[in-house]
Amino acid sequence: ALSAAQDFDFFYFVQQWPGSYCDTKQGCCYPSTGKPSSDFGIHGLWPNRNDGSYPSNCDSSNPFDASEISDLTSYMQTQWPTLACPSNNGLTFWGHEWDKHGTCSESVLNQHDYFATTLSLKNEINLLQALQSAGIQPNGQKYSLSSIKTAIQQASGYTPWVECNNDSSGNSQLYQIYLCVDSSASGFIECPVFPRGSCGSSIEFPSF
Ligand code: 5GP
Ligand code: 5GP
Ligand code: 5GP
Repeated sequence: ALSAAQDFDFFYFVQQWPGSYCDTKQGCCYPSTGKPSSDFGIHGLWPNRNDGSYPSNCDSSNPFDASEISDLTSYMQTQWPTLACPSNNGLTFWGHEWDKHGTCSESVLNQHDYFATTLSLKNEINLLQALQSAGIQPNGQKYSLSSIKTAIQQASGYTPWVECNNDSSGNSQLYQIYLCVDSSASGFIECPVFPRGSCGSSIEFPSF
C-alpha cells in the first residue's frame, strides 16, 4: 500500500514520574514484572504539528504486533513500564502508544524502529540525574517550576515542558516532562510549540 504522507512537524518525547501517577486519587498498579525503579519512565513518542494539533490513530491496517519487538521486551519492561490498572505486562500500554501515535509516523519509523528509537532517546538525556545534580530530589518536597526547568535545560541543552497533576490531597506535582525531537527522529530540538496546562510556581516532587 502507498504510505501516507507525513502529517506532522516534530515529536514530543514524553516521560512520566511514577510517583506522580501512583499517588493520585485513581492510584496505580505495578506491572506484573514488578515495581519499576525510582526513575522516569517513558510515556511515548508523539507526532505533533507546529500549530499544536496532532494526528492520531493513523493506520488501523498496521496494528501493534508484539512479535516485532520481542528483542526489546525486557528493556521495555524497565524503561517503559505501565502503571495502569489492572496489573499487566505492558503490552496494552505499548500497543496503545503504537496504535494511537506510532502509526502516524510510520513513514519515518517502522514499528520496531519506533520503539527502539524511543528507548535510545531516553538514554541520551538522564532527567533524574539532571534534577538530582541541581539538588532536586524525589523526596516529597516542593521545588520551584523554574528551578526544575533550568536544571534540565542546563544538563541537556534543551528547554523542557513540565506537566503537573494533583496528588490525592490536591497538591500540584511534577507528573510528565516533554522534550522535542525532529521529524526524522534523529535528535532533540527546541520545541516549536509547547503544550498547555498550568502547574503553579512551586510543585511537589513525590518519592516513588
Ligand atoms: P491528556 O488529555 O491526559 O493530557 O492526554 C491524553 C492523551 O492525549 C495523551 O496520552 C496523548 O496520547 C494525547 N495528547 C495529549 N496532549 C497531546 C499533545 O500535545 N500532543 C500529542 N501528540 N498528543 C497529546
Ligand atoms: P495516551 O493516550 O495519553 O498516550 O496514553 C494513555 C493511555 O495509556 C491510557 O489509556 C492509559 O490507561 C494507558 N496507560 C497504560 N499504562 C500507562 C502508564 O503507565 N501511564 C499512562 N499515562 N498511561 C498508561
Ligand atoms: P514564562 O514564559 O514566563 O516562563 O511562563 C509563562 C507562563 O507559563 C507562566 O504562568 C508559567 O508558570 C507557565 N509555564 C512556564 N513553563 C511551564 C512549564 O514547563 N509547564 C507549565 N505547566 N507551565 C509553565
